[in-house]
This record gives sequence, structure tokens and C-alpha cells, in this order.
Amino acid sequence: MRIQYLGTGTAKGTPVASCSCSVCSIAREKGGKDARKGCSVLIEDDFLIDLTPHNQISDFIAGSEQRYILATTTGHEHFHAQTLQASLGASSSSGHLDIYGDAGLNNCFIQVPPSEQKKYVKERLVFHTLNLFKSVRIGMYMVTALPARHFRTAMVFLIEHAP
Ligand SMILES: [Zn+2]
Repeated sequence: MRIQYLGTGTAKGTPVASCSCSVCSIAREKGGKDARKGCSVLIEDDFLIDLTPHNQISDFIAGSEQRYILATTTGHEHFHAQTLQASLGASSSSGHLDIYGDAGLNNCFIQVPPSEQKKYVKERLVFHTLNLFKSVRIGMYMVTALPARHFRTAMVFLIEHAP
């Protein structure tokens, strides 16, 4: 299983704009490896965990192969509907994207101003609700959502190759 970390900061990246904690202060001062993008992981080429405002996903959604996005929570830093909207709107691919997360995830486009919402974009998205401790097959993987030590319905994922 090939895992690529696209960002290892907080969901908002590090430093957080208005934060004066020691981690953010050092990251702001030193930059470089201390300044990190929002936390996101790509597994193989088809499986993205969390879509942050920092993600460039045009390559991810291009082409006709099936793609999956898992969101650890519905917070817009973890599933940034505007980034998805912009990337899909600019893509010539017509395939659909399967998106997995908690029950509130399919309301994510409420965050996108109506003037920016494009109907065809929503038609390309298929939302699936994950239930804690229940394994589901997603592509070539078995995914089990587990509760995160975070707020609301945040999840972490156990990901295994499907038998
Ligand atoms: Zn901070």
C-alpha cells in the first residue's frame, strides 16, 4: 500500500493564521519544513483522505479511473467543498467521485455560495455514510470507521486490502 502524505499540519495547515501558540510561532518564523499544509493522505492514486483547501486535486480527478475521497469529519477544513467544486468544474473528466464520511457530509455544498454551485458538479458526486465499527468495501480496500478523539462525529479509518 503506497501512502503519500500531502500535508501534515493541522486541518488548517501550520501555522494557523491567527494562532500564537509555540508550534505556530516557530513555523511562522522558520518556514520550510516547519510550515505544513493541511493534513491529507493519498493512498495509491485513487484514495484521498481529507480534502483540504491546500489540496490540488486536478490530477487526482482527471481520467476515467474510479476515485474515492474519505472525510474524517464534515468540518470544511477536512472536506473543502469549494476546492472540489473548482477542480471538478475545470476538469474534462465526466466520471463520478465516491465520497465517504459521516451523515452530514452530503450537506457540504451548503458552504458553497449558490452562485458558485454548478448542478453538474453535484451530479458527479455520490455520497456514502460510514457507520462506526462497520467495515465496508471501497474499491480494493476494506475500510472501518473508528471514533477519533476529536470533536463531534470525527473518525479515523482502519484501511486494509480487501480479500
Ligand atoms: Zn498554533
